[in-house]
Amino acid sequence: MDYSRQILLPEVGPEGQKKLQGAKCLVVGAGGLGSPAILYLAAAGIGTLGICDGDKLEESNLHRQPIYAAKDVGKSKADLAAERARDLNPQIKVISHPFRLSVENAAALFSQYDFVLDCTDNFRTKFLLNDAAYLFRKPLVRASIYQFEGQMQTYLPKRGDACLRCLWEDVPQEGCVGTCQQVGVLGPVPGYFGLLQAVETIKFFLGLPLLGASEILFVDLIRYAQQTISFTRKARCVLCGENPSIHNLNEKELWEIDRSDFRNGSFTLVDIREPDEVAADPCKEKCLKMPLSAFDSSQLDSQKTYAFVCRSGRRSANLVRALREEGRANTFSLIGGVAAMSEEE
Ligand SMILES: [Zn+2]
Repeated sequence: MDYSRQILLPEVGPEGQKKLQGAKCLVVGAGGLGSPAILYLAAAGIGTLGICDGDKLEESNLHRQPIYAAKDVGKSKADLAAERARDLNPQIKVISHPFRLSVENAAALFSQYDFVLDCTDNFRTKFLLNDAAYLFRKPLVRASIYQFEGQMQTYLPKRGDACLRCLWEDVPQEGCVGTCQQVGVLGPVPGYFGLLQAVETIKFFLGLPLLGASEILFVDLIRYAQQTISFTRKARCVLCGENPSIHNLNEKELWEIDRSDFRNGSFTLVDIREPDEVAADPCKEKCLKMPLSAFDSSQLDSQKTYAFVCRSGRRSANLVRALREEGRANTFSLIGGVAAMSEEE
């Protein structure tokens, strides 16, 4: 690999190139944001590049994830992206982590890298990455998009930056701002923000100025308007505040689960909808029926792990929040309600 054009830059030079060679970056999410980030980090000579993604390539991904090829639909995205990065730059080490980031594997993954890119598209993983970055003191650059807009934050725990939980204490209801599946996405929009993440990552290792502490960059690609908004670190933050309630990832309240968590776990499913709702739209899974209007938590067995489901996931989330306040840590809420259970695999 010839880095001469990049080494010509006084900000890089041979010394800077050596720093990139020594860098170890983890990209979580090999989708619309991850595609350009992975390609440009590999091309720039980031010495060790990890790619974590548990999904298989779908045809509907291709328009915003041009790192992949149509012939590879159905294969592991992490494996495919790693192969592509190795083809592009055989001099670097590329490691595929073909699974979902979870509370169980986050510590082991974070320990192998110096810098993490949050290229995911769901709140749960964003909060998990935020908590892991704070607890393991690892720099993180996160981005997310909504239609033609997007935002990016460079979170450096050692700089004392405000964390995601300083803004939102808890994981927002999934779907409250809409996901790509629901609201649509134009391919280059995540591409643009994935590129910005790659720029921040390279600047970090070169020691160049980054996005400021506790700042979020917003860009609207319809009007080409951009602004940076500062927020403050909250003294009462549940993670990074003075008296935090979250001390390690295992204690973290990841009590909203999605369909794949449900499939991979051994949950007792409980439908809390009212009888008329159940009659109109029966749950396709085997489940207990405990309508919310007559709910009695003393009927729960402390030896079992429960997943509660309602129509949209809102009532079940409120119920689980209340049950957990009673100390029932064996309760979980299913994101997206019964509709999410009956979506096609
Ligand atoms: Zn915080």
